[in-house]
Amino acid sequence: MSSGRPAPPSARPQSFDRVLSSMCTEPHPAARRAAERFLADNPGDPATYRAVADLEARAVGTLGTVAGLADPHGYVASGGTEANVQAVRAARDLVAAAEPNVVAPASAHFSLAKAASLCGVELRTTPTVAGRADPDAVRAATDDDTVLVVAVAGSTARGRVDPVPELGAAARAAGARLHVDAAWGGFYLPFTDHDWGFGAAPVDTMTIDPHKLGRAPVPAGGFLARDAATMDALAVETPYLESRSQATLTGTRSGAGVAGAAAAMDALWPEGYRAARERSMADARWVAAALADRGHGVGLGDGLPLVTADLPDRLFAALRDEGWRLARTDAGETRLVCMPHVTRETLERFVADCDRLADRTV
Ligand SMILES: *Cc1c(COP(=O)(O)O)cnc(C)c1O
Repeated sequence: MSSGRPAPPSARPQSFDRVLSSMCTEPHPAARRAAERFLADNPGDPATYRAVADLEARAVGTLGTVAGLADPHGYVASGGTEANVQAVRAARDLVAAAEPNVVAPASAHFSLAKAASLCGVELRTTPTVAGRADPDAVRAATDDDTVLVVAVAGSTARGRVDPVPELGAAARAAGARLHVDAAWGGFYLPFTDHDWGFGAAPVDTMTIDPHKLGRAPVPAGGFLARDAATMDALAVETPYLESRSQATLTGTRSGAGVAGAAAAMDALWPEGYRAARERSMADARWVAAALADRGHGVGLGDGLPLVTADLPDRLFAALRDEGWRLARTDAGETRLVCMPHVTRETLERFVADCDRLADRTV
């Protein structure tokens, strides 16, 4: 019976209908079901929760296949932020340096700033050329105290892919490790001709997130390492658990993230991701051409479905008032992230709104 108090406001999840700014998306239905089944399992204690531990091993194996690593080490993290923190932490502890520094292009994700702060290392950011790392600038920023060079494979702002082999050479010349941040782009880059994975460069660690283009439910980030020594450097002993050690940053973790990631990749790797990329690239090219036709400067990601467009401030504001979820790069370009939930029809409605609102905002 009613308690006499008013019913709580019925909170509803955000509809993805007009979301163009986010790298999250609708999980694959099989991933959603698997996440719900394993909601109470804790992969942080794999000796007790064995089924989810097996699913995690399976997920890491597939992540390795995606990234070109035959015998991968790693785990399903809480997200790209944790994976980037762990890459910095491992480098700090494995590479000798008096005052350790990390060199990353200015296009690197802001999680690197958190990682540097947490790990007590200096973060040196280098200028980019057309949104990609400039190997000369990276080389010039490294020194004997550089423990890690970061390459971005699919930048968050523009979808650009750094020259990973050249950054690998710069890292090795400085005696440093190489980390590739493919948090967003990693599930589509295998279907491009970019050199980005473990097979293309001396990559030590990688971030590749199932909860973005992988279509797993949040939280499911991916941390991969080429060798076991990286995991050993991250591990601490775990008295009073059935398991003996733990390399993750979090303790208790979501079985939903692990099971969802495994199920999404089982359902989609490789053909589902290939098809999703092809459709989204066609849609990204279509919307880029449509906006260019209307006189806006546009940019397209490197084989990745992210469009940037120079929309006037008033149009940007009017579109947001219409309910479009939009964000801009630091240079003021509007980002259209063509995630799997973004259909051609969505983009047609978006362009129609641009036309209608442009008349009103001139
Ligand atoms: C999204 C993103 C991250 C951070 O991932 P979270 O899952 O949000 O923690 C890191 N790097 C890149 C390139 C990203 O796009």
